[in-house]
Amino acid sequence: MEDVPQFSASHSRTQSYTPASGTDSPKHAILSPALDQGAPRLTDPDLVLQPDPATFIVQSAKKSAPLHTSSLAMPANTNGNDQKPRGRFIVVGAGYAGLATAIELRRKGFEVQVVEAAKNMTTQGDIIQVGSNATRVMSHWGNVLEQAVAESAQPKDMKMFDKTGRVLLHAPLPTEFSGFPVLYSNRGLLQRLILEYARSIGVEFRFGERVREYFEEKDGAGIVIGDERIKADGVVAADGIHSLARKHVIGIQQHPRTSGFAVYRTCFPLDLLADDPLTKPLTELKEDMFRVWLDTDVHAILFILAKVRQVVIFCTHKDTYEVEESWTNPGDLDDMLKISKGWDPVIVAAMKAVPRDKLIDWKLLWRDPIRQWVSSTGRITLVGDAAHPHLPTSGQGAAQAFEDAGTIGALVDKLGVEEISTAFKAFEKLRYERTSLTQRMGWETRHRWHQTDWDMVAANPEFLKMPQPMWLYDFDAEQYAYDRLDEVVDSVKNGTPFVSKNLPEGHVHEDWTVEMMMDLEKEQAKEHFYRVANK
Ligand SMILES: Cc1cc2nc3c(=O)[nH]c(=O)nc-3n(C[C@H](O)[C@H](O)[C@H](O)COP(=O)(O)OP(=O)(O)OC[C@H]3O[C@@H](n4cnc5c(N)ncnc54)[C@H](O)[C@@H]3O)c2cc1C
Repeated sequence: MEDVPQFSASHSRTQSYTPASGTDSPKHAILSPALDQGAPRLTDPDLVLQPDPATFIVQSAKKSAPLHTSSLAMPANTNGNDQKPRGRFIVVGAGYAGLATAIELRRKGFEVQVVEAAKNMTTQGDIIQVGSNATRVMSHWGNVLEQAVAESAQPKDMKMFDKTGRVLLHAPLPTEFSGFPVLYSNRGLLQRLILEYARSIGVEFRFGERVREYFEEKDGAGIVIGDERIKADGVVAADGIHSLARKHVIGIQQHPRTSGFAVYRTCFPLDLLADDPLTKPLTELKEDMFRVWLDTDVHAILFILAKVRQVVIFCTHKDTYEVEESWTNPGDLDDMLKISKGWDPVIVAAMKAVPRDKLIDWKLLWRDPIRQWVSSTGRITLVGDAAHPHLPTSGQGAAQAFEDAGTIGALVDKLGVEEISTAFKAFEKLRYERTSLTQRMGWETRHRWHQTDWDMVAANPEFLKMPQPMWLYDFDAEQYAYDRLDEVVDSVKNGTPFVSKNLPEGHVHEDWTVEMMMDLEKEQAKEHFYRVANK
């Protein structure tokens, strides 16, 4: 709880993260020395990523004859064969889900090409929580985790106030589980670290290329970009919340519903708080800080990342006008200040310091959990937000993407591309109930904070805590997949019942829909609404 994990003194390029306590390396950590090269240090903040040449089977989308087929000289594999890749995957999207899955597949000896629509790595985004269930996955990636710790926040406590600044709760926050840290990272910085590591182990990238279609054949699946068809053994679609692949997989366009809320979000240099005596002390903090202010239907968060000297402010508010679900939609500072009028002067002063061009208004849209992540032939699977978008109050959007990656890596490692369809269907079975619950948890936390039962809080302030339970944070997704492989494969092939063990003890899965949650939206928070205990 109390300590940041220890690192050994020297870091060779073949080193991976060593947790301070708790679990050992997974039994099946089969990282080959040639692949475990450690991420290079982040040296060039303006790194521009150039597309790499394709090495997969590339055909004209109009003609059936291959334009060219080339092969990649692979580093040593984990299957004992130094020359031949074990199979080829296309990963669509270089967000956390795509990068993590690409690395996990590569670690297991597969050839991987990532196709990303953005030309350069974006610097959009602010803070993202990377729980220990995610850093456990990252711990196998050279010294990526060590660098991530150096650049991330790890607040040791969280204070909650009512809007006037009266303290409601002051609770410790775990900084690690079994030695794997809980991080609050700058999304762009961490993404670059992971990207550089992926490149260093031989994952190929094509940036600035938007996939416009997916296809499946008996012996493979692929994507269409421009007039190129690229085919591989399997496709992992990590194309985010507006996923095109989701439509291909479930056969219909899933329309998101407005949740009635949007979030003003901003991230800016800490020194901008120095001008106001109310916020100046925050600029002198040596430790990371996490503060939350609550009122009916609105909450604000002030986060100080001391190491990288940044401030993050969120203000989740009733969404009274049509804004897009976009990371670039400008926010109206005056409107945010209107919403917080009369609040604790500290949060108001911090909001006044927000540079107008650094505020976005991010609409919170809902999507029902979808049960089907894998296409009919079983060669295309969704991962990350494409499969299970989370609300920010879950703090699990990124972490579940990393868990997806660890799970897929383990399953494809054991089953090979020969049984790709079984592997992907097993992935869906292992993951659906868990992510359905973590998705719901985001709604639950927000509901606790927005429709607060103040009598209940007076009796038990812990009611407001953000849930960080052991079943969720102290979880090894890769190991779980290896451990349950035979059972889940039996279930996929023969329909035998499969009981998830990656849920809270005694939890019985229930499907839920946005409609069901909206019905509860107006009711005051009651314990029985919630499926995830906040302890
Ligand atoms: C710009 C941006 C900023 C974000 N900032 C934050 C933040 O500050 N805090 C937070 O908690 N969460 C943030 N998120 C969301 C968060 O990253 C995800 O919820 C989580 O990490 C899971 O990521 P993902 O890889 O599934 O999806 P994403 O991170 O959304 O990545 C999906 C990727 O797929 C690419 N893509 C989409 N369609 C195609 C296509 N047809 N062809 C090729 N590529 C395609 C996109 O360009 C994108 O890079 C942000 C997402 C984005 C895209």
